[in-house]
Amino acid sequence: MGLKERVDLVEQRISEACRRSGRSRNEVKVIAVTKYVSTAMTEEVLQEGIVHIGENRWQTAEEKWRALGERGIWHFIGHLQSNKVKDVIGKFSYIHSLDRLSLAKELDRRAEQLDLTVSALVQVNISGESTKYGLKPEQAADFLKALSGMKHIQVQGLMTMAPYESSAEDTRPVFRGLRQLRDELNRQALTPEPMTELSMGMSNDFEVAIEEGATWVRLGSILVGK
Ligand SMILES: *Cc1c(COP(=O)(O)O)cnc(C)c1O
Repeated sequence: MGLKERVDLVEQRISEACRRSGRSRNEVKVIAVTKYVSTAMTEEVLQEGIVHIGENRWQTAEEKWRALGERGIWHFIGHLQSNKVKDVIGKFSYIHSLDRLSLAKELDRRAEQLDLTVSALVQVNISGESTKYGLKPEQAADFLKALSGMKHIQVQGLMTMAPYESSAEDTRPVFRGLRQLRDELNRQALTPEPMTELSMGMSNDFEVAIEEGATWVRLGSILVGK
């Protein structure tokens, strides 16, 4: 299957998941995760009209960003070390992996120097797997309070990764948990604006994530290939 066919197929599956769950198609945005593929393939993705590009390490993103940076909107989706913030700030519009105060301070400091605001999603480890990054759900409220003074970070929502399950249906409680946590945090009004975004769902489980309220799905292998 070529890229065009994969894009069409994914689009169809997203539309069906939206229909099943009574959501409008334009509530769900696609990030093409290009970490496995070349710069040439990433260019093809942009030519297909997909503008949101996701990468999880600066080392694998750098060449693509230098060639194509102006043509896409870049999302940093992987674990971010504080000493790498200087590389990605100003290049990646969104950070999906904000998971600790030291990282937030460095992002805020660097963003202030460049006089910009970085959009962030707070990563939460809903499944509780020890191999996953992210705050514990019960830490999220205090974390948001601690971010409130950081004027150069705009928290738009929450992000999680579900465990790999052979049946996607088994991921549902994780995605539902993230949505419920977001709604509960919004009731506490801890951010200047309510958090609208839920970054959840990958190739294996994006339809279930959409049914549970995903606004950003991060698609690598199924969309752009391995
Ligand atoms: C690699 C990656 C993805 C995409 O994974 P696929 O299963 O290939 O769709 C999504 N999110 C994160 C954080 C990733 O690291």
